Amino acid sequence: MRLIILASGSSGNAALIESDGRAVLLDAGISARETMRRITAAGVLDARVEAILLTHEHADHVRGVRVLARTLGVPVIGTAGTLQALTAMLADVPEMARIGRRDRISLAGMRITSFPTAHDAAESCGYSFESRRGHRIVITTDTGVVTPEALEALAGAHVIGIEANHDPRMLDAGPYPPFLKRRIAGDSGHLSNEAAAAALRSAGWQGLSQVFALHISEKNNTPETARGALVRSLATHGAVALETVARGEIAGCSI
Ligand SMILES: [Zn+2]
Ligand SMILES: [Zn+2]
Repeated sequence: MRLIILASGSSGNAALIESDGRAVLLDAGISARETMRRITAAGVLDARVEAILLTHEHADHVRGVRVLARTLGVPVIGTAGTLQALTAMLADVPEMARIGRRDRISLAGMRITSFPTAHDAAESCGYSFESRRGHRIVITTDTGVVTPEALEALAGAHVIGIEANHDPRMLDAGPYPPFLKRRIAGDSGHLSNEAAAAALRSAGWQGLSQVFALHISEKNNTPETARGALVRSLATHGAVALETVARGEIAGCSI
């Protein structure tokens, strides 16, 4: 089972989750051409993408979805609220399918469980991906707080991708206008380093091997600040690799 973060941050988000050669694309926030370029660069061109799964309708998660769905000939899967918000954009994709916010589906040979996130979108969610061998990857980004359902999903995960969007002091002192600062720091905004660290403290266990810090703000955070906040919460759980994924970077791991 592999997780490849193809892009992360406000300029675009996309990840590929693969198990036994079958794959799901999670979000399509960069252009279709750039997504394919990065899939090639990451060496996972052999993985057969069977669907595009969406977390929510914000542009940094769906920019490439229409062209990708048409090029790959695969369905776009999202919650009713997400698909509704994208009605015009998705008018001519091959197929759309709904997933509930607390749902469990079989897709690309994996068991995928959705859970609600807390974000200013129609009906946002995060996902857990479980392989036939019982390996589990959980990704939660674009969430003002870690929801109880997300915490439940994170427990027992082998690989975690979690938002570490901002350092509250940097956000406070930074260049954003007050309304935007309030939005980002609010319960339906983006996750702070500290909130991500707290979630990891409770999700840590001996089977957790890798954590990716995602959606790192370029103005209100740095990869080093995010790492500093998260690394302490993982210290008690043995050898957990922590990787911060900055804009433009590709990162990944296999389990
Ligand atoms: Zn968003
Ligand atoms: Zn986003």
